[in-house]
Amino acid sequence: MKEIILIKNGEIALKGLNRSTFEDALVKNIKRRLSPLFSADIKKSQSTIVITPLSENPDMDKAVEQISRVFGIAGFSRAAACEKDMDVIRSVTVDYLRDQLLDARTFKVEAKRSDKTFPLKSPEICMELGATILQNYPHISVDVHNPDIVVNIEVREQYTYIHGNQIRGAGGMPVGTSGRAAVMISGGIDSPVAAYMMSRRGLSLDAIHFASPPYTSARAEQKVHELLGKVSKYSGTINLMVVPFTEIQEHIKDDCPEDLFTIIMRRMMVRIAQELAERQGDGALITGESLAQVASQTMRAIGCTDAVATMPVFRPLIGMDKNDIVEISRKIDTFEISIQPYEDCCTVFTPKHPRLRPTLDDVIEAEKALDMDALIKRAVDGVKLIVIDKSIEI
Ligand code: ATP
Ligand code: MG
Repeated sequence: MKEIILIKNGEIALKGLNRSTFEDALVKNIKRRLSPLFSADIKKSQSTIVITPLSENPDMDKAVEQISRVFGIAGFSRAAACEKDMDVIRSVTVDYLRDQLLDARTFKVEAKRSDKTFPLKSPEICMELGATILQNYPHISVDVHNPDIVVNIEVREQYTYIHGNQIRGAGGMPVGTSGRAAVMISGGIDSPVAAYMMSRRGLSLDAIHFASPPYTSARAEQKVHELLGKVSKYSGTINLMVVPFTEIQEHIKDDCPEDLFTIIMRRMMVRIAQELAERQGDGALITGESLAQVASQTMRAIGCTDAVATMPVFRPLIGMDKNDIVEISRKIDTFEISIQPYEDCCTVFTPKHPRLRPTLDDVIEAEKALDMDALIKRAVDGVKLIVIDKSIEI
């Protein structure tokens, strides 16, 4: 008997003609994710991807952990692959599913037979195995409607696959199949969650962080590296661009009305982010904004910021409550990093009374005090690039 992994690829099944492109991307992403563990034979077969480790003693626990963070997978199973012989199938089922069967109170058997030369038909396989399980595990009974465990027997061309309940996958679409986008990342709770959510929809990620030393510290930037490290466990490689923002913030503070400071700063961020994103070939920006969370996230303020955007700005958290966002940040393990108390450039020079309903005309008028092109050019020229990828670190 060998242990393998069977993958059911979620939404991709809906993709019609594009399906094989999506599946190829998924297979490539899986292969890369398993590369530090073992080399594997990865085959597509009907709506399943079959992963067969090629080395001795593969670390299947680690493999499952890696697979559980690959987007494009609805569910997967660890399975035993054994000979197509009823005696072998019986004994492997009893041994291999021991823990799951001991944990369950009810079960049913489902059999599929794609090899039609196998002497027993599917209902007969179910009957035989049902009887074997009842004999070996007297505590358990059959429930065909709502069983604790479904024992799956798939008789295929080469082997029989035996597996219990599915493990839930990361969902979404394979990274890369929707193109690339740049997430504007702070050290807060929201933007890493936004990055995760959009990567789950199939985007490869670049990231842009504005830093204002000496008002913000090296430790604050380090925090962003750590957050993106966690996100990259799902998204794969992230190219982080760190933008020097001190000069721009000082100019806005000195030359523009105090109550418009935040909105002007955010417009400068978007202008610069867009330029960097275009250079990377990104098709959109991503932010962690959520309506009404703070003064700069009122509908009017977002409208003023959006007015400088020429590419789409994705805001996956716009309609979410903080509690729901926190729940996701805990799940992806960014929460504890996000709550470390380091200054973000957004909290430097914040006005006591930001204007809640800025008009675009006022903002445009106030920005005339800035030497816009020169400021943007110096910021873009000063960008530092860091490549982050923890997805193949075990
Ligand atoms: P977060 O939790 O992501 O920091 P927030 O609720 O604190 O968000 P703001 O500080 O107003 O809200 O920031 C809104 C969005 O602007 C962030 O989600 C992020 O996308 C972007 N942003 C904020 N600060 C920075 C920064 N220093 N560099 C890059 N993007 C930033
Ligand atoms: Mg913030």
